[in-house]
Amino acid sequence: MIRFENVSVRYEDDTEPTLRGVDLTVPEGELVLLVGPSGVGKSTLLGAVSGLVPHFTGGTLTGRVTVDGRDTRTHPPRELADLVGTVGQDPSAHFVTDTVEDELAYGMESLGLAPAVMRRRVEETLDLLGLAELRDRPIATLSGGQRQRVAIGSVLTPHPKVLVLDEPTSALDPSAAEDVLAVLQRLVHDLGTTVLLAEHRLERVVQYADQVLLLPEGAMGSPAEIMAVSPVH
Ligand code: ADP
Ligand code: ADP
Repeated sequence: MIRFENVSVRYEDDTEPTLRGVDLTVPEGELVLLVGPSGVGKSTLLGAVSGLVPHFTGGTLTGRVTVDGRDTRTHPPRELADLVGTVGQDPSAHFVTDTVEDELAYGMESLGLAPAVMRRRVEETLDLLGLAELRDRPIATLSGGQRQRVAIGSVLTPHPKVLVLDEPTSALDPSAAEDVLAVLQRLVHDLGTTVLLAEHRLERVVQYADQVLLLPEGAMGSPAEIMAVSPVH
């Protein structure tokens, strides 16, 4: 589903590349946890999947990244909205409308869907994320965990095959983090969505992961295998 072939990324003023010769395959319908210390290149790797690298951040990407066979270098993020959904650490940076329902609808606007289909997708997504009772609420009045679920919902309504999340629970208390992770696990298991999630702390997310990718080593394996290699996390 997601494939990296000999991918390197170097930012303009840096002498060393941030990613060097990464080869990677993320299978369809799995939750893969990308873990490693701050600054190791997790956001850069996610950006290469969503097309933010190189289209928006600068940086030179060599090698090839494909998602469902589409090369992210020749398809800028707006051409990938129906394939890759991207959620960052700070959901507020993401919102463009005022209410929960409008925000879920907004992500589909460029897809040319019939109004009835859009309405159905909003309903489905409100139910999936446990947001039905909050549909008319101004986003500004929600808790951090609720806001993060709205951010996820807004990229889900285009029905992406891949969801990329950069430390989505780092600003949340443990119970709100669990709600978000449970939603992601449901997406993977019920809808077959592929989820790639970056986190610098292994322990919060590892129980939800099918596989773990460890940077800078580049080792990928089951949570048990990776915990054996890297007991320090
Ligand atoms: P992580 O997500 O693991 O903290 P990042 O991918 O954010 O790592 O950063 C890895 C390295 O790349 C850092 O040295 C950072 O300064 C550099 N970097 C990240 N984004 C940019 C950018 N847009 N321009 C220049 N350098 C960047
Ligand atoms: P459409 O919206 O294309 O008219 P439906 O609303 O009937 O079609 O949904 C089509 C299928 O997509 C359903 O089986 C539904 O379970 C599934 N689905 C719902 N949400 C998502 C999602 N976020 N990603 C992928 N598939 C989804």
